[in-house]
Amino acid sequence: STKASPKDKEIVRDYFNSTGFDRWRRIYGEGSDVNRVQRDIRTGHQQTVDYVLNWFKNDKNAVNQTVCDAGCGTGSLSIPLAAMGAKVYASDISEKMVGEGKSRANDPENPVFEVKDLAALSGQYDTVICLDVLIHYPDLDSEVMIAHLASLAKSRLILSFAPKNPYYVLMKKVGDMVPGPSKATRAYLHKESDVRRVLQKLGFTIKRKEFTATSFYFSRLIEAVRN
Ligand code: SAM
Repeated sequence: STKASPKDKEIVRDYFNSTGFDRWRRIYGEGSDVNRVQRDIRTGHQQTVDYVLNWFKNDKNAVNQTVCDAGCGTGSLSIPLAAMGAKVYASDISEKMVGEGKSRANDPENPVFEVKDLAALSGQYDTVICLDVLIHYPDLDSEVMIAHLASLAKSRLILSFAPKNPYYVLMKKVGDMVPGPSKATRAYLHKESDVRRVLQKLGFTIKRKEFTATSFYFSRLIEAVRN
């Protein structure tokens, strides 16, 4: 099916509060308590985070910019972004992920962390960021989520997602056949052309993009600016 039921969202939340939390807290950490696959994913994810941080660095506009990091996980992006001077509001549907993010941050006031479904976010931010979250949702849900995130963005929306093309569809099929703890949630790939169409419809233009691919991690990163 292409539409996730509220139950699917509960499954994602429960996963990131239990086995998913344990797995991703380690992947998004620095410890040696990861296997080869997890280490590869750690490297790939860090690349995506670094691309975003470098956009801020090169533009020299992090200071005092307001940023909403939706689905912030353990704060991999939010914490360094706050250290660069941005005012970061970091939220996640999983209280465990948010708790871990809080414990990793040095400044108790920035980022401001909150447990929240991104569909329930409100307010206006210079930049809204949502990294590696859409992989948990099918097309229609993703479209609704992108539209909501766009409504919070004064000038810019930064998204990353696992791109759908014949090669990755095949990779995913093979991966799905291999049993393992990471299979607790479904992974959804998204066509870049679909994401671009949604953004255009919302009045955004893609300004920069990047792609990260390691052996087990692949993510298309897009910066879209309001027309
Ligand atoms: N964005 C972070 C990063 O790149 O380091 C975390 C990525 S992790 C693969 C996906 C995160 O999305 C999890 O922390 C999960 O709890 C969160 N998430 C999933 N569905 C969400 C929703 N509807 N609203 C907010 N967060 C959500």
